[in-house]
Amino acid sequence: MNDLPQKYKEMSDGEVYAAIRQARQTLGERLTILGHHYQSDEVIQFADFRGDSLELSRQAAQATRAEYIVFCGVHFMAETAAILCQPSQMVIQPVIEALCPMASMADAEEAAAAWDALSPLWDGDLLPLTYQNSVADIKAFVGKQGGAVCTSSNAAQLFQWAFSQKGHVLFMPDEHLGTNTALAMGIPHARIGIWNPLRPPQVESLAGCQVIVWKGFCSVHTCFRPEDVDEARANYPDALVVVHPECKHEVVAKADLSGSTTGIIRAVEQAPAGSTVIVGTEWHLVNRLAETYPDKRVLPLRRSECRTMAMTTARDLLYALDGILSGTPHNIVTVDEDTAAWARVALERMLRG
Ligand code: SF4
Repeated sequence: MNDLPQKYKEMSDGEVYAAIRQARQTLGERLTILGHHYQSDEVIQFADFRGDSLELSRQAAQATRAEYIVFCGVHFMAETAAILCQPSQMVIQPVIEALCPMASMADAEEAAAAWDALSPLWDGDLLPLTYQNSVADIKAFVGKQGGAVCTSSNAAQLFQWAFSQKGHVLFMPDEHLGTNTALAMGIPHARIGIWNPLRPPQVESLAGCQVIVWKGFCSVHTCFRPEDVDEARANYPDALVVVHPECKHEVVAKADLSGSTTGIIRAVEQAPAGSTVIVGTEWHLVNRLAETYPDKRVLPLRRSECRTMAMTTARDLLYALDGILSGTPHNIVTVDEDTAAWARVALERMLRG
């Protein structure tokens, strides 16, 4: 939450919601509010578009009529919107301090050091891919080196694309999405190496690898354990267990399905009435799915919340909208033009696919 002016703290929830509705009405088509699925209900109810990273990237690129894009999510998402939108548009993140911890686990300097060490190992036969959950500098680095961005929805597709260009892939910054994607493509564990930027390995030890994954992780998804799946199956033997590919491979291997946020939503949607679906992803989304599909039993694999996603409240959203209405918008997200241009190259390689 921002250090909000006192008046917002003193308003009741009802007053806040009414004021947001009024502000949206006043701003009309000049405003688009984008909300990630992991946002709380009090915020997501006001999103014109809700989605996962890929869907929201597309929306940001397509919302060309809106003068203001208010992005309720974490910073790398708002940065992506700022990279993809028109120069005349303004992207505002109600709580600009809401950073994704995983995205903060790789910076451009570390990526360049890894690149300089690894690329000569295969005479330059190496391509970088970055997960959307990365800072703009990493996306720009990847764009400059001929690589692309991917999301959990299209990681397999982008890996295929990368291997059509080069023989080796450096995947940043999520070890688990990279590993799960490579294994699903039939690349064995022995050919997947790990790059720990804090303690880089002996480069020669990676010579036999096809994929190098960065040692980054999402604490929300790595908290799920294989024992959680065992326990869920013991309690609900007929349940479908669906988890996100940011989970550790031991968890993915025990689940019935692994899918992106959109894939998880689809799995719940398609489950027959009366069935039980146990979901290993961010708790706000699981809870919302349970409410949306009361004819099914939708349960969390365990309660795991993204604290930075939860930093944005309806009061922060109202404060951001009031800033626009008063002509003094705050928490404007900008990316310098050189970084944005190269990051756009990497993002467009994904969006074209
Ligand atoms: S759920 Fe994980 S990857 Fe997504 S924003 Fe939170 S910490 Fe980052």
